[in-house]
Amino acid sequence: MIIRKLFKFENAHIVRGCTTQRCSQNIHGHSYKVEILLESNYLDAGQMVYDFGLVKHTMKEVIDSFDHAITLWSGDDAEYIKDMQRHSARWVMLPVSPSAEQFSRVFFVIIDQILKLTTMTNEEKEVKLHSIIVHETDTGYAQAFRDDAYSALMGEIDLQKIDFSDQVKSEWKDEKMWKKILFQKFSVNPQKI
Ligand SMILES: [Zn+2]
Repeated sequence: MIIRKLFKFENAHIVRGCTTQRCSQNIHGHSYKVEILLESNYLDAGQMVYDFGLVKHTMKEVIDSFDHAITLWSGDDAEYIKDMQRHSARWVMLPVSPSAEQFSRVFFVIIDQILKLTTMTNEEKEVKLHSIIVHETDTGYAQAFRDDAYSALMGEIDLQKIDFSDQVKSEWKDEKMWKKILFQKFSVNPQKI
């Protein structure tokens, strides 16, 4: 069975190498929709695949980090990056270009890592990330499956190369959230939700 949770955020970018000049040479924004699709052959103690109350915290906070922010590609022009960081307090740096395709791969790797680090406490069994869908517009989306997310052919998504601006980090309930996602184990206690 597959279950789905939808998140939304507003974000700005330039997609270098895009065939249209509007897209590749101009800062512009999109109202993104991100769908997290989880799958399992089992149900938990609440007869659910996974209680979406659990994704309200870390997953929501990571995706919300992109809201009202500009997403930069570390391979972009150094002067452009510097100027954007000087004039926009909320930015996220990615090791890949912020196309919808790469956004879906980036979110897959992040959410997959959060799931791996989350201790299941309500008899959830074999809950796996099925795919991530990123809608950049009302009419187009990209969907990343596991093979896509970890495909070296599409560029490695190294979480350690993702960086968030100080203002983004200052809004996290736990300023060390990203470090925990990268390096530490943490558990979700449903009682505290
Ligand atoms: Zn765009």
